[in-house]
Formats: sequence, structure tokens, C-alpha cells
Amino acid sequence: MNDTSPFAPDPSTDEPPRLHIEVDPMRCVGSAMCVELAPGVFALNHWRQSEVVDPEGDTLADILEAAGNCPTSAITVSNAVTGEILFP
Ligand code: SF4
Repeated sequence: MNDTSPFAPDPSTDEPPRLHIEVDPMRCVGSAMCVELAPGVFALNHWRQSEVVDPEGDTLADILEAAGNCPTSAITVSNAVTGEILFP
């Protein structure tokens, strides 16, 4: 069987996983902690709520730090390919 799906992870590289990042608008209070810690990924919109502008805009470590420091636990991070939950 040929397993050459373009979405299959390549174990020969140390490429970070493609990420699916969500901000729950019902929880976000606009503290901007995530924007401070991962400014390439998060930005505040007109309503002072965080939005994901580029899921690959910062390192995984910075993204997880941002998610972990959200005061309302509004951010979830998962592997976009496997669905594995990376945070929380
Ligand atoms: S850290 Fe959490 S509450 Fe603050 S802006 Fe980001 S998602 Fe919203």
C-alpha cells in the first residue's frame, strides 16, 4: 500500500506540526496576553477580541506559552493533521 498522502507527517524532518488554533469568543476578554507572547499568530479585532491571523506565525513553543497564559483559557491548539490536542 502506498502511503504518500500530502497530509501525512514526514518523520524524516523536524518540521513542526501544522496547527489548528481556536480562540473561544465567549471566553476571550481581550487581555492581549496572547498577542504579546505570539504576535505573529494572534491579533485583537475591532471588538478587542483575539483572532488567529496566521497559525504558523510563531513557534509552537510561543503559541503554547500564549495559550497557557490566557487568563480565561480561551485558546485551544491541536495538530491540524492528526487532530491531536496540544493544548489544553
Ligand atoms: S490571552 Fe486569552 S483573553 Fe487575552 S486576548 Fe488572548 S485569547 Fe483573549
